[in-house]
Amino acid sequence: MNFLFKVLVAAKASSNHHKIPLDIVKHMNFNGSEDWQNLFLKHWKVFLTGTRDPDRKFHDFRNHVLHVNENYWGGAIKAATKWYRTCVDNLKAEKWEDAIYSAGVMSHYFIDPFMPFHTGQTEEEGIYHKYVEWGVLKTFSTIQGIIENKLGGYPDITLSDKDDWIDIEIKKHATLSNKYYNSLIDNYDIKNGKKKPGEGMTDKLLHDMAEIVSRTVIAGAKFFERAIMEAGVSPPRINMTIPTLLASINIPIFWIVKNIEDKAEKKFLLAQAKEYEQTGKVIKNLAEDDKEVRKLHAEEILKITVEELNNRPLNKRHKTNNRTETAKNNKSTDKSTRTKSANKKTRGKSRIKFHLELTDKVGDAPEIGGKTEERLNKVGIITISDLLNADPAKIAKDLNHSRIDTDDVLRWQKQTMLAQRIPNIRGHDVQILVRSNIDTVEKICSFDADKLLEEIDPFVKSSTGKSILRSGAVPDLEEVTDWIEWAKQAR
Ligand SMILES: [Zn+2]
Repeated sequence: MNFLFKVLVAAKASSNHHKIPLDIVKHMNFNGSEDWQNLFLKHWKVFLTGTRDPDRKFHDFRNHVLHVNENYWGGAIKAATKWYRTCVDNLKAEKWEDAIYSAGVMSHYFIDPFMPFHTGQTEEEGIYHKYVEWGVLKTFSTIQGIIENKLGGYPDITLSDKDDWIDIEIKKHATLSNKYYNSLIDNYDIKNGKKKPGEGMTDKLLHDMAEIVSRTVIAGAKFFERAIMEAGVSPPRINMTIPTLLASINIPIFWIVKNIEDKAEKKFLLAQAKEYEQTGKVIKNLAEDDKEVRKLHAEEILKITVEELNNRPLNKRHKTNNRTETAKNNKSTDKSTRTKSANKKTRGKSRIKFHLELTDKVGDAPEIGGKTEERLNKVGIITISDLLNADPAKIAKDLNHSRIDTDDVLRWQKQTMLAQRIPNIRGHDVQILVRSNIDTVEKICSFDADKLLEEIDPFVKSSTGKSILRSGAVPDLEEVTDWIEWAKQAR
């Protein structure tokens, strides 16, 4: 279970409002909490959308603060209470996805006021606020290490039983955190921080943050627990494993592994992914706890032995080695020239069409021409899925070609990933994006259209850019607006 969280964090946690909420879910600890954790893991996408929507979508920033020395000015308590109620209602109605989303939103409204800079306002804070937040993000695993090794683990916290417990708890923790307000400013090393935000985090600051984060995480876990208890429902039975999680994450395994520090864990994850790739199942390389759950589930629920389960064929999405079949599927990402009218046709939410599928042949990927496709085929890369699931360094080495290195393969992978996740988008588009360093769906979504247009401008005007566009029109505001809109509908 812990490992699943680690994979998800490595793959998807790009903000403190991802890392802290995921740590909260990981620390839920009550009778049956594991089933609830599985539910959160299954719906991680809406959860992580919820945790950031107050910043990204609602923009109700007054609700993100609680100024303890100004008579608790700010709307955090009201907003947290509202989303707590929504969460409980959704749980009661067994609307699981909505419940997980509202839990995510709720977390934002108590995490923010638990952070010192949201508990007051000074002119001095201005410059430090973003740097410290950024520094915390960069040093999050160090902070977790301090919690485990220097603070003696996460604290025990009991919530108030009074009717207005949300009010009481948020005020209490905001007040505790406010004591660190000046210390954060005094101890952040802004000179080093400006070079690299993580390096502004002095030992004192890391220690302070460990105290704040550990308290936030456990209080948060209790908030979630209380919502679940108040709803009084049982979660659906879900069996989450590394392969099911990976399948939903939609990121090449090698990119995830890069973000995992522990060598043994890296190896373990790769072994699982490899077994899955080869057999469509993970049996040999399951973690001990997953093995046990799988066995019990087979015996008690499916009423068969583990051996019988091992031999059961998969009923869907198992990639076979029958490559000719997949190769028949020769859709093209982008062989046509960009024209305005073609652009218009695909405009609008209702027209969703993916131009690239995992089962398509590798030659359909942007930037991969006939010659390169032949070379890739020779080293066993036949389909888009093969390309995405292989180690770029290994492909480059196998290709043994003087003009192709790891960075080239990684770029192909990034372009391909965007092309198969984002509807309507075409080969030119993803080439321009990736070459402009906008290489994930999340990054595209984070741009406003005019800013995105600015960002791709240097590359579009470069000679490589011109050769990619050839006779096609240079992307304009209307077009990049579409890209962002489509990226928001990525699968
Ligand atoms: Zn916020």
